Amino acid sequence: MCTTKPFFDPLHLTELSFDALMEWLLSRSTTELVSLAQQVCAETYGNKVFLRGLIEFSNECLCDCLYCGIRKSNHKAQRYTLSDEEILETVKKGLSFGFKTFVLQSGEYRIELPERMARLLYQLRHITGEDVAFTLSCGVYPREVYREWKKAGANRYLLRFETSDESLFARLCPGKTLSKRLQALDDLKAEGYAVGSGFMVGLPGETVAIRLRNVLLCRELQLEMVGIGPFLPHPDTPLASESPLPIEETIRITALLRLLLPWANIPATTAAGSLHPQGREMMLAAGANVLMPNITPTEKKHHYLLYPNKICLDEDGWECLSCLSLRVASVGKEISFERGESILRDFSSPSFYFEKKPISH
Ligand code: SF4
Repeated sequence: MCTTKPFFDPLHLTELSFDALMEWLLSRSTTELVSLAQQVCAETYGNKVFLRGLIEFSNECLCDCLYCGIRKSNHKAQRYTLSDEEILETVKKGLSFGFKTFVLQSGEYRIELPERMARLLYQLRHITGEDVAFTLSCGVYPREVYREWKKAGANRYLLRFETSDESLFARLCPGKTLSKRLQALDDLKAEGYAVGSGFMVGLPGETVAIRLRNVLLCRELQLEMVGIGPFLPHPDTPLASESPLPIEETIRITALLRLLLPWANIPATTAAGSLHPQGREMMLAAGANVLMPNITPTEKKHHYLLYPNKICLDEDGWECLSCLSLRVASVGKEISFERGESILRDFSSPSFYFEKKPISH
């Protein structure tokens, strides 16, 4: 294993000023970016694609993000919450298929979740032992709540910042602030979670500079996981009439993420597959190394619609496995059922290798 600092910035991109990095990015063709990212990904994760079983356990949400199909003001969304038994059964089934990581995702419905989640995690841990990783993706909570969930058995937490631009964030997520979100990411790290975040590509009002700052913020936060996906306008939201960017932009940003965060686990997201039939394969080819098959019970899947035309809703998550193996093989990679920690975990003192760079120069 490489233990030198250049490993963390193989192309020395962080030595460039913001403007020079922008120029570098804009002057590279997509093919060139993808090829560079492929090399870096092969050196860090080989040809492995880690699987995470995604359980969307509730689409209740108290927030009103303008881009989101399950925002509280969308009264057309049919609300559901899985029972503890349904979640336990889904995890048991996942274990029998060989899954070593489960992601429990919901909207932010703060009131009853903290206690319920802690109880559920103790039950899940009892079934799985320590071999399995549980990732939570349930939004912003006070630090004590994160501490309780960690104690109860959670290992990882995903909380996207969505955009690094404060005023765009405030416009798109009424009542919330970017700084609070970033504070939550700090809290999660301090509580010992493997922390993941990410952003949407092509939000209305986003500029190329904001997109680049999004990537640099991911590096500055030293994220272990980075989830990105294209903005897709949901018809029952205030952004219904906006247009998404072509898939190519998501692919270029995926490649740049791999170059600037070689250690990160980067999922090829369902949103990319929903924008373009080969969107996930294109992300895998551009340096993504994770897939998250949706193993939510099929009858509930239809109601977790953050964006329209979501793929794989009619299939049972277990049926998706053979389809995903073929898709992964088509880009020369293979599915791995390993727990798949970020390689950052292999370094006892990761911050030794980083200089925290400001996101604008
Ligand atoms: S993006 Fe998340 S927090 Fe915002 S409305 Fe949707 S589920 Fe709720």
